[in-house]
Parts: sequence; structure tokens; C-alpha cells
Amino acid sequence: MFAVNVAINLPVKNLFRQFTYSVPEALQFIDSGWRVVIPFSGQKVEGFVVERVSLPSDEVLKSKLKPVEAALGDTPWFDKEMLATAKWMADYYMCSLAEAMRLFVPGKSSIKRRAVRDAQGRLLYYVYNERLQEKTVLAYRINAAGRQALAEGTLAKRAKGQHAALGVLAQAAGALSVSELAQQGVSSAVARALAQNGLADAVQKRVLRNSYNTEQERGESLQLTAEQQDAAVKINQAIDAQRAQSFLLQGITGSGKTEVYLRAAAHAVDAGWQVLMLVPEIALTAQLVKRFQAWFGSEIAVAHSKLSQNERGDVWYRMRTGKARVLIGVRSAVFAPFEKLGLVIVDEEHEGSYKEEDHRPHYNARDVARTRCRLTGAALVLGSATPDLCTYYKALQGECTHLHLTSRPNGAALPKVEIVDMRKELEARNFSVLSRALQQALVMTAAAGEQAIVLLNRRGYSTFVMCRDCGQTITCPHCAVAMVYHKKNEDLRCHYCGNTMPLPQECPNCHSRRIKYFGSGTQKAEEQLQQLPEVRVLRMDQDSTVAKFAHADILRRFADGAANVLIGTQMVAKGHDIPNVTLVGVLAADSTLHLPDYRASERAFSLLTQAAGRAGRGDRPGHVIFQTYDPDNPILQLAVTQDYDTFAKRELQERKNYFYPPFAQMLKLQVVDKDEGAGLVLAQQVVFYLQSLKLQGKLEDLLIAGPFPSLVAKAYDLYRFNVLLKAQDLKETKEALLNSEFKEKANLYFNVDPVSV
Ligand code: ADP
Ligand code: ZN
Ligand code: ZN
Repeated sequence: MFAVNVAINLPVKNLFRQFTYSVPEALQFIDSGWRVVIPFSGQKVEGFVVERVSLPSDEVLKSKLKPVEAALGDTPWFDKEMLATAKWMADYYMCSLAEAMRLFVPGKSSIKRRAVRDAQGRLLYYVYNERLQEKTVLAYRINAAGRQALAEGTLAKRAKGQHAALGVLAQAAGALSVSELAQQGVSSAVARALAQNGLADAVQKRVLRNSYNTEQERGESLQLTAEQQDAAVKINQAIDAQRAQSFLLQGITGSGKTEVYLRAAAHAVDAGWQVLMLVPEIALTAQLVKRFQAWFGSEIAVAHSKLSQNERGDVWYRMRTGKARVLIGVRSAVFAPFEKLGLVIVDEEHEGSYKEEDHRPHYNARDVARTRCRLTGAALVLGSATPDLCTYYKALQGECTHLHLTSRPNGAALPKVEIVDMRKELEARNFSVLSRALQQALVMTAAAGEQAIVLLNRRGYSTFVMCRDCGQTITCPHCAVAMVYHKKNEDLRCHYCGNTMPLPQECPNCHSRRIKYFGSGTQKAEEQLQQLPEVRVLRMDQDSTVAKFAHADILRRFADGAANVLIGTQMVAKGHDIPNVTLVGVLAADSTLHLPDYRASERAFSLLTQAAGRAGRGDRPGHVIFQTYDPDNPILQLAVTQDYDTFAKRELQERKNYFYPPFAQMLKLQVVDKDEGAGLVLAQQVVFYLQSLKLQGKLEDLLIAGPFPSLVAKAYDLYRFNVLLKAQDLKETKEALLNSEFKEKANLYFNVDPVSV
């Protein structure tokens, strides 16, 4: 007999400690990694078994232990490696173990219980958490009588259809669903007739839900370039060795990184390994998913954020049982269970969307992936045209192998980039958001039957609304941000909380009627583009892509030529490969450069390079126009040459001078509170605590900045204060915070390695 220590994740309270429960006779199989149902402060809750421990020898203590009530599932959810990964996360990201473990389990943590009774209504047992339901469909299977009838040809004359249907069923390995039968020319009426005549059995067949169909269209295998070949060989060796080697695959846009991923994945699958491929956003990756499907067919599983719980349950089941070999998924796919993980690929590894910034725990999927590789021995490939500077620095230091793809395989050159000074447009009395040069280029591109992409990183129509008399800007009553005018809905919208309000007739401050609209968003740009001859426009931003798969839809329609100009926010800049695109225009190219954030340059350079990289991927050269009011900006100048290495060397020097990552570690503490004063006080208390430790000679190299209001000082009616911590190594600081009362404060967030500050 033994007891177990259980980690409990309650949404309302952060429980860092674990709780001990006894294990009844019938559940003696329970060990670390099992999900269980346990009684906890008057409720039944989900718990995760961390370890077995011996029962206390003290009889009183022993009798106080409550028993585990049930086991969830029929196998432990966590294997040793998953549990170890969760422990690493708890340490590194400063969350409770239960919070980290919860991320690995699809669905919510609520416990649902259903009583199973016998015919007399007596309770037999309870079934817990049936939420992950198997989906079944009606199917037919030939039986003995059917086989006999087929052999004897009984139906051959009087019921030809049924005879043929028996033939189809006899060929099948198992039962055939109604739709599978239809594909072979057997109608459901005929199948039903067979069942009624006792020649086939109607059964239920489990189908795995999969929102992607698995059409096979294996393309001809390309001849790899020497650089691609070299990269593939090195990665394949690492897969064979299974010693957790990692790679940075740095390849300019259009250099054929995907082809290298495919070869490596195929090598791993052939050797019996499973592959995890992380992508920033599935919606923008439809093309990539298709290419993988062409190679791996039904061995692929796809996990995107719009999967239902049941669909996700199916995907996880296919990975755990080894039924699928390749998982392509967004951030949360890093928590999938695997039978035999051998390779992890992180595409566009620099992308901010790998970091969970909104909810705790604030983890980075790329770094969780690195840990899983370290624990399993799987090879890790991080791919990007513009790597995260921290990853790049690691490669320079030799912590991972640096692989380069320096040219486009089809011989296409990088596009020519030109900067247009928008101040000159104003002097020439051109008040359009489109410069004359871009207008002309657009018209010529359209006339040549080619396509263009226009990027403007602000959605809506006008981006702020101001009173001409008193200068008041209309802001969201719940958030400290300007309201944005949306012409389609004829209202003002908050891009933070989604709050809407009618168009103001007068200024709420001074009642003047001289309300004016300033700034331009994608809707206004769309309107102006439509004025140009021959130009047909599609718009892609958060407002146009609310529906499931809308992104993929718009991209497909654009690729099919339904329009010749695609205007949108940064989502138009990423991932896709449309050979007919020869022109890219970036409006307000400097807009992200001036944010008060140490990563602003990195982000701007990356976005501009990615955007430029959409042009000239086919056999015609590309042309790119950056519009700006700040043409001499050095980052913009570097982006023109798309020379990442020069940019990176310069930026690393800056980071070193100002002591930022990768030379320092950073931790952002954020306090959120309905009460502004209370929030500030809590933030100050943390700072005092850390300062007092410094006065005692501890945490010597820790730098503390703040508290100060966040960039958006209020959101969803909550005031937000930040404290920024920097040190060469934050280990001791983290320990000090985790040993304090602050760790269980529900409104204090620890954000390790923040992507924005
Ligand atoms: P990246 O992901 O690096 O931006 P892709 O993998 O999308 O680039 O490749 C860009 C284009 O080059 C694709 O159309 C792809 O089919 C093509 N391509 C890749 N490798 C080769 C090759 N070895 N030979 C010819 N074409 C290639
Ligand atoms: Zn006013
Ligand atoms: Zn708001």
C-alpha cells in the first residue's frame, strides 16, 4: 500500500504545493503521470499524480488521508519525459507544477460524472469525463450468410445491385462506412437492403475527425541544391544519433527551407520516429500543410487553435498510439503526447506567436520544444530567414549547428527594394495613403497580369478620432487606447477589448461638432486601391478573417487570381509562396520601429524582410516599395538590402551596450488590478522586497526598473503596472520571488523572457 502526491490546478488559486492522498485497493495501478479525481475542499477536482510515496507510519496521520476517487483514462497521461518537461517549465517559467501539467491535457479541467446503472436502476459505477467522445459512423460488414450468398451467386440475377455490393464488402478489410461504399458505387439503400436480408451487419465504426482532407498529390521530387543537401545530411545524421543536437537553419526567403524540413521528416519517419512540426499559425500555413500531406498522406495530424476539444482528443490519441507519424501544429502542439519522438522542427522560429503572452504560464513553445528534445534525444531544427537574435547568438557561440541557405534555388534574385519619402508626397499635395510611385507600380503590375501585396499594419478605417477644438482623442472607456473608426460597421471599435460605440456627433469633452478622423487603416487603403484602373482588391486582416479557415480561403482566392492586389495587416507578409506576385508595397514601413521596446528594431527588420520576400518568387523579378516619413532610419536602410547578418551584428552590439538579451536575462512582472492605487502598491511592494535583498548583499547584479504603467496602461477595465528585471542570470531572483508571499498572488504575473516589454 502507498499514497500519492497530487498536483492540483485550480483556476482561481495558484497551488504551488502538492497534496497527499491514499490509494484504494482497486486503484493500486496508479503511478506518477496518472490523471485522477480527488476530493478537495468539498469538491471533486482533477489532479495529476506526481509520485508515489509511502503511507505515513503515524496512524492518525494515515487515517486523515483522503482516498483518490477514480482514475481518468486507461493509461497514465504523462510519461516520464512529459512530467520532466512540466517540472522544467514550473522552474523556468515560475508557475506551479499543476499549471504546467494542465497545458498537456486537452479540454478543461472540470470533472463531469455520469452514473451507469443496471436494468433495475441500481448504481453500477461512475464514468468520469466523457467529454472526449469518439465519433462513429454507420458502416456495413459482410457476414457468413453474405459470403455464402456471394459464392453461390444467389442474388446475381434477381438483385444485381446487392450482389455487386456483397462483392465490394467482401474485398474490404473491415466494415465500410456509407460514404466509403458510395465511393465504390454502392448506395446506402442497397447496403440497408443487405442488412435487412441478413447478408451484412450494420455496425458503428470509429472515425477520427480531421478538418483537413488528405488528398494525395505527391509532387515530383526536386533536385536539392548543394546547400539544401548539406543541411539535410547533417540533420539526418542527428536524427540517427538521437543525441538532442540542435540546428539553426537560416535561409533567405524563398531559399527552400520547407524542402529541407520535408527530407528530414521523411528520414525520421522512415527510421520509425515521429515528427513534430511547429508553425506560427495554421491558417497562414495551408500551403505548407498541403506539401506535407503530399508526402505523408494520412500519417499526418494537424492541430490548430480552432480544433474542438474532441478533435484535439483524436489528434492526441493518434500521436500517442503512433497511428500518425507527423504532427503539424501551433504553439500548443508542443504539449502533445508521442509514442516515439525523433525530430522537432520549428518553422519561423523568431515568431512572437510561439510565446504565450496573454495567459499564465507565459511559456515559449520553441523553448519547451528544446527541453523535450533534450529529454528525449530528438533532433531540433529551428528555421527562419530572420532568426531571433538570441537563437542567432547561440549559433554564433556554437551552442547549435548553424546551417545556411543563401540563394533561391530556381535562380530567382532577391527583389529590388526602394524607399519612398512620404514627406515629398505631402509637398506635392498627394494626400493618398499610396505614394505616386506605388500607384504607378500597382497599375503597371495589374496591366501586366501580375499580382501585388500591400501591407499596412493597422486595421480599421481611421485609426483615431479627435476633436479639432479641444484636441481630445476618443478612447475606450475600458482600455487606455484610442477607438478606431470602422467604416463597414459605421462605428468605433476598441482593438483591445472589442468594445464598440456609435459615431460621436459631438466631442464628449467640449461638445464641439468639429470631430475629425485621422490616420489610415487597411479599410481606407482598400478604398483607395479600388480607385486605381485594372486593380481588383482582396483584404485580409482580423476583421475579414473571423470565420474558420477564412485566411486560407482568401489566400487561395488570391492565388487563383480572384484579385490582383491583396491588402492586409502583417498576416499578408508571412509564409505563402505565390509565384505571380511581383510587387510588394509596405505603407508606414517605419510604424513598428518607434515602439518603446528593445525588440522593436528586430521585429521591424523581420517584418520588412518577410514582406519583401513575398515578391519575385517565380521566374519574374520582384519589386518592393517601402513608404516612410523617416527615410534615413538605419534599420530601414538595412532592411532594403535584406542583409540579416549585418543587421544582426549591429543589433547585437546595441544589445550588449544596453545589457539586453541575449546578454541579459529578462523577467517582466506585471500587476493587474481594478483599483489603480492597489495595483501600484503591490508592484512597489515587490520592488521593495527585491531592493531589501540587494541591501543585504544578495542578487548583486540584478537591475530593477519600475514600477511604471504598461504601454497600454489599462485594458479590460484593469490597470496594469510593469516591473522589469534584468540580470546575467536570473536564477537567484526567481528563487527569491518563489520563496516569497508574492508567488501566490493571483494578479501578479511572472513573464520570463517577455517578447514585448
Ligand atoms: P522558404 O520556406 O525558404 O521561404 P520554400 O520552401 O517555400 O522557401 O521554397 C520556395 C520555392 O522554391 C518553392 O516554390 C519550392 O518549391 C522551390 N524549391 C525549393 N527547393 C527547390 C529546389 N531544390 N529546386 C527547385 N525549386 C525548389
Ligand atoms: Zn472637444
Ligand atoms: Zn477596450
